[in-house]
Amino acid sequence: MAFEGLTERIQNAIHSLQRKGKITENDVKESMREIRLALLEADVNYGVVKDFIKTVRERAVGAEVLESLTPAQQIVKIVNEELVKVMGEKTVPLNKSAKIPTVIMMVGLQGAGKTTTAGKLALKLKNEQKARPLMIAADVYRPAAVDQLKILGEQIDVPVFEMGTDVDPVEIVRQGMAKAQEQKNDYVLIDTAGRLQIDEKLMDELAQIKELTHPDEILLTVDAMTGQNAVEVAKGFNDQLDVTGVVLTKLDGDTRGGAALSIRAVTGKPIKFIGQGEKLTDLDVFYPDRMASRILG
Ligand code: GDP
Repeated sequence: MAFEGLTERIQNAIHSLQRKGKITENDVKESMREIRLALLEADVNYGVVKDFIKTVRERAVGAEVLESLTPAQQIVKIVNEELVKVMGEKTVPLNKSAKIPTVIMMVGLQGAGKTTTAGKLALKLKNEQKARPLMIAADVYRPAAVDQLKILGEQIDVPVFEMGTDVDPVEIVRQGMAKAQEQKNDYVLIDTAGRLQIDEKLMDELAQIKELTHPDEILLTVDAMTGQNAVEVAKGFNDQLDVTGVVLTKLDGDTRGGAALSIRAVTGKPIKFIGQGEKLTDLDVFYPDRMASRILG
C-alpha cells in the first residue's frame, strides 16, 4: 500500500511527543529529526524536506504551541497544514476553453500510463460533463499504442482518430483537429509519443504539436512508483513544454510518497489527477488535504 512506511514513521514521531506532558524545544527538534528521516526515506526531494522541516519546526517551537494545553495535537495540525501546502493547498481543476474544443495534450515517458490515462480522462469527461471527446492517436513510436487507444475508445465509446504509425505525428494531429472541428467535439485528447527518456527529438515533436494546437492543458503523466525519478522527469518536461498539470499514476502501488510530496514544490505545477488502478474508472481528482490525511494515517 502507498505511503505505509512514511505514515508509520511520522506517527511514531508524533506518538513520542504525545507521551510527554510538557514539550520542550528539544523534543520538537528530536521529532523533527525523525520526520525529516522519514521523508527522506520516502524519497521526498531533499530541498522540499529541508524547507518543510524548517517551517514546521519554526511554527512548532512558538510559545502559543509549546505553552498550549495540547502541544502534541497542535504540532500534528501544523504538520498536516504544511503537508497540504507542499502539495499545492487547493485542487486545481482542468482548464476549459471558452470555445470548443478544449484541447488536452497528454505527454509522458513510455510506461508511465499516458495512454491509459487518456482513456480514463475521456471517460470521466463523458460521465461527469456529458462531453463528446475525440481522442487522437499520435503515439506512433510505441508499436501497440495506436491499437491500445483504439481498444480503449471502443470500451468507453469514444471515437479515436488514427492514421496508423507511418504518418508524421504532427500531421496526424493536424488532421485529427480538423476532424474534431467538423464533428464539433467539445474535447480533444491527444495521445502523444512517449520515449524511454527525454530526448531532443521527442521534445521537438511535442513543441510542434503544442504550437499547432495551442492546448488548454498539457497534462504530464508520471509514474509515482519511480519516486524522485518522476520528479526529475516532471522537471524536464516542464522546463521544455511549460506543462499545465501533472497526473500521478500507480498510487495504488507500492509508492513511498516521494513524488506526490515533491512534484508541486519542485516544478510549481499542480497535480491535477491521480491514477489508482488499472481500471478505466480509477482516475481521481487530486485533493492535497485528502492526500495529507492519507499520509498522516
Ligand atoms: P504509456 O506508455 O505511458 O502510454 O503507458 P500505458 O498507458 O500503456 O500504461 C502502462 C501500464 O501501466 C499499463 O499496464 C497500465 O494498465 C498501467 N497503469 C496505468 N495507470 C495505472 C494506475 O494508476 N495504476 C496501476 N496499477 N497501473 C496503471
